[in-house]
Amino acid sequence: MMLILLVLVTSCGTENAPAQFEIDERLIPYYELFLSEAADRGRDLVIPYSFIIDFNHYIDGSGVTRTHKNGLIEIYIHSTDWYRWNDYEREYIMFHEFSHAILKRGHIKNDMSIMTERLYPSLTNYRTNREEMLQELFR
Ligand SMILES: [Zn+2]
Repeated sequence: MMLILLVLVTSCGTENAPAQFEIDERLIPYYELFLSEAADRGRDLVIPYSFIIDFNHYIDGSGVTRTHKNGLIEIYIHSTDWYRWNDYEREYIMFHEFSHAILKRGHIKNDMSIMTERLYPSLTNYRTNREEMLQELFR
């Protein structure tokens, strides 16, 4: 019994990617804000085992979250789009992707949620209903 357990532990260790945390320094403020907004609402978060948060020119759309079987989660933000957005739009996009990655939330049909698939009118609503939409996000 002990031997089987050791083999299982060893095989898990070799299949999993080594733990890593890489985040572009321009994205750190949004990551820290997401953690503090969650904490303010009493939400405990489980941070991915391996996490890469970076820019990429080649993704479809403004942001993408990729979840891998080995525990690695990658978030990529379109680097060209990033410089067109204001700070408020950046927060919205980052919170959307962090919610996929950390809260494990999928898309919903609700224009008063950050997790809607359509950017508009949700993004416009976020400007005037930020608190309400953060409550919905971390509920
Ligand atoms: Zn999404």
